[in-house]
Amino acid sequence: MDRIYLDYAATAPVLPEVLDAMMPFFISRYGNPSGIHGTGRDAHKAVEEARRRTAAVLGAESREICFTSGGSESDNLAIQGTAFALREKGNHLITSRIEHHAVLNTCRWLEKQGFRVTYLPVDADGTVSPDAVRDAITPETVLVSIMTANNEIGTVEPVGEIGRICREKGVLFHTDAVQAAGMLPLRADGMNADLISLSAHKFHGPKGTGALYIRKGTRLDALIHGGSQERGLRAGTENVPGIVGLGKAIEIAEAERTANAERIRELRDLLIRRIRGAVPDVKLNGHPERRLPNNCHFSFAGVESEALLLRLDLAGIAASGGSACTSGSMEPSHVLKATGLEEELMKGSIRLTLGRETTAEEIEKTAQVLPEIVKDLRAMRGLQEKSDCFQKKDS
Ligand SMILES: *Cc1c(COP(=O)(O)O)cnc(C)c1O
Repeated sequence: MDRIYLDYAATAPVLPEVLDAMMPFFISRYGNPSGIHGTGRDAHKAVEEARRRTAAVLGAESREICFTSGGSESDNLAIQGTAFALREKGNHLITSRIEHHAVLNTCRWLEKQGFRVTYLPVDADGTVSPDAVRDAITPETVLVSIMTANNEIGTVEPVGEIGRICREKGVLFHTDAVQAAGMLPLRADGMNADLISLSAHKFHGPKGTGALYIRKGTRLDALIHGGSQERGLRAGTENVPGIVGLGKAIEIAEAERTANAERIRELRDLLIRRIRGAVPDVKLNGHPERRLPNNCHFSFAGVESEALLLRLDLAGIAASGGSACTSGSMEPSHVLKATGLEEELMKGSIRLTLGRETTAEEIEKTAQVLPEIVKDLRAMRGLQEKSDCFQKKDS
């Protein structure tokens, strides 16, 4: 059975070109970038080349890029780093209720350390209001953290506008752009951002490698103390193959972004039309237009998402219950809760995310299989309810 992978928001395969670029740095070019000898200088040069490539995509300077172990570390470094560095200035942070757990749980932890956090609500489409950000800023506010695009429902946030407000008010602005890479422009100036989190495995780079853009002049405390790597912000011998892979992957993602996003958007729109045409009582979650081109997120009334995902998996289709971190637990998604979705619909929600390997045939097959499974599950539930009803009458 050919498997259909529609979970690109969870992770994407490493591109062969990316792996090829990484390979030499495991065996033949194994130097420690801190070494003063040729082998060390060779590795150092490769890391700096990756830094230059990453900076170019963001419209930044090389020294504004800090390599990390992934999106989660970048979020932690951005938020904890500024919170502690600016503690004298104030102890208030602003974020939204729909952030990734790497942001939300960092904020919760900071609350235990004596910081105050405002968690802004979102509207039914999952959009954060720039006016709400403006109203929440106090003289104590040091950082606003709002994601570029949501990993569950795909809504693209008005980060350019939010960043402009933050700049006006003299407050730092961080954006988790992990889902936006390869899909939306990542220019630091366009987003008016001081800090931008990226994760390589979401754009066909290796897992365990990420980057944080830090606008020059931004003060940040380190999380990991030790050597002076990454300008003292992140101690430890650099993950040279990973960093090289990230540099290669981000360059390809950017070069092919427009064409890729356009092709994927068309397939995604086709899938949405087909599902809506074939299934009654289905809701598309997230903003109807301002959403990631590769994301669709549906709620099917009268269906359990767990059952739906299992049946899809049996049919060879990999989808997700919204976020990889919450699937496996029955806890409803904090993102869907924040949009005010009815409980009944929340339980029947799935995310399908497309990527560069997705084909028209795969979308065709999914558009045939998914409605059949939904129909089946609803019929079974109907029978179950009838038998429950009889049992109640009997007893
Ligand atoms: C995947 C993801 C992360 C975490 O990135 P890792 O590299 O897996 O730590 C953070 N934020 C968002 C929006 C994500 O989608």
